[in-house]
Parts: sequence; C-alpha cells; structure tokens
Amino acid sequence: MTATTLLYEGKAKKVYATSDLQCYIVDYKDEATAFNGAKKATLSGKGSLNNRISNSLMQYLQKQGIATHFIQELSPTQTLVKRLDMFALEVIVRNICAGSLAKRLGIKEGTPFEPTIVEFCYKNDSLGDPLINDVHALVLGLASQEELESLKSLALKINTLLQAYFKNLGIMLVDFKLEFGKDGEGNIVLGDEVSPDTCRLWDTRTHQKLDKDRFREDLGGVCEAYEMVLEKMSHS
Ligand code: UDP
Repeated sequence: MTATTLLYEGKAKKVYATSDLQCYIVDYKDEATAFNGAKKATLSGKGSLNNRISNSLMQYLQKQGIATHFIQELSPTQTLVKRLDMFALEVIVRNICAGSLAKRLGIKEGTPFEPTIVEFCYKNDSLGDPLINDVHALVLGLASQEELESLKSLALKINTLLQAYFKNLGIMLVDFKLEFGKDGEGNIVLGDEVSPDTCRLWDTRTHQKLDKDRFREDLGGVCEAYEMVLEKMSHS
C-alpha cells in the first residue's frame, strides 16, 4: 500500500490517503512542539521512535482486546492505519499529578490520584484545546452521553493495561492523552498515537522523566529518553 494524497499535516504527523478508502498512512515527523505550538524544534529520529513505540503499544493493547487503528508498520516512520471518524476530543487520564494540573489545583507534582482522573479536552487549536465537562461536550455535539461513557471506560481499561505493562519495565505511567474515532461499523476505536509525546513516563526508581517534558522543560536528551523507553520495551 502506498500513500496518495496528503490529507492532513499536524504538528507531529502527516496523514495520507491510500488506494484503499478504509486505510490511511500516518507519517511521523521529527518536529517537536509544546505549549500549543509556541515552542518548536526538530529532533532528529523522534518520528521513528514514536512510530515504533506507538505501534508496539497499540499491538499490545490489541492483544488485550482493545480495538486500535493499527494495521501494519510500513517503514521506520510510516504506518498503515484504519480510517476513523475522529471525535474532536482528547481523553486525558491522570494517575499521578504533573504538568498543568499541578499548577491549576495547587497539588504537588508526584502526588498519586485516587481515584484516577479522566478528563476531556475539546480538540480545537485556535481555542488551545480547552478542558470541558460532559455537558459542554454534549452542547458542542462532540459525542453522545453513551459515547462519553464508553470513552471514559475504555480510557480506564487502557490505563490499567498500560500501567501494568510499564510497571514491568520499571516505568511509572503518570498521565497520558488518548484520541478515539469510529470505524465504518460504528465501533469506537483507539486512534492517533500512544508515545512519549503523549504520555508522561517516569523511571520508577529515579523518577527521571522519559517523555516530552524533557523538551517542554529544556532538560535535554529527549530522543535518548525515548530510545531508553523503546529499548526497555524490546525486552518485554
Ligand atoms: N497531552 C498531549 N497532547 C495535548 C495535551 C496533553 O499528548 O494536547 C498529554 C501530555 O503529554 C500529558 C497528558 O496529556 O502526558 C496530560 O497533559 P497536561 O494537560 O498536564 O498538559 P500540560 O499542559 O502539562 O502539557
């Protein structure tokens, strides 16, 4: 399968149509952005690391009964995926306090949450992806109440699976963002990516950050950290 028309170019990926109407090709870029695009850099090798990490995680989730868009890795940066009609929602899962929430609620970074927090953000770049509640999502027509419930329970199920997976590798799954869509039959399917760009991952022993916070906070060694995650995954 080869890429035909470029359909969409985002901050970290390009999406192409293919000769099969039900399949797209995703091409991961080396660009890193943070703070809604205000901070930018090119990190050579990041695209390939995220492609490989996300594909392995999607395959693991698929084996555990979660429907994902993953079909086949085509090259170090390109993957064949199922076409989905995406919800304009980001589903954020938080096990441990970090990032913007620490500031917003005045809770110390590193504090565990019980129960786990699930949040929705409205995917809208010009509004800066604002945090919304279920009623906002309904008013905006982003999903039905039943779909919102399914998204929450799927996100919690994925959290349980990923937490266990990373725990085995000596990594804490602090928080992460998921995006879902509907396939041709109306099933809710996990799309987008699951990678150190979209998850906060801390070394269990040292609490060293192995994710995009290294870029956000100018800690350096971004690709080295992603490489470390991939290397640990290859032994699982
Ligand atoms: N996240 C993401 N894309 C977004 C917003 C958040 O991948 O557009 C991820 C982020 O990497 C983190 C989690 O979702 O793992 C929670 O992010 P938070 O809202 O704390 O983001 P911050 O504002 O701190 O970057």
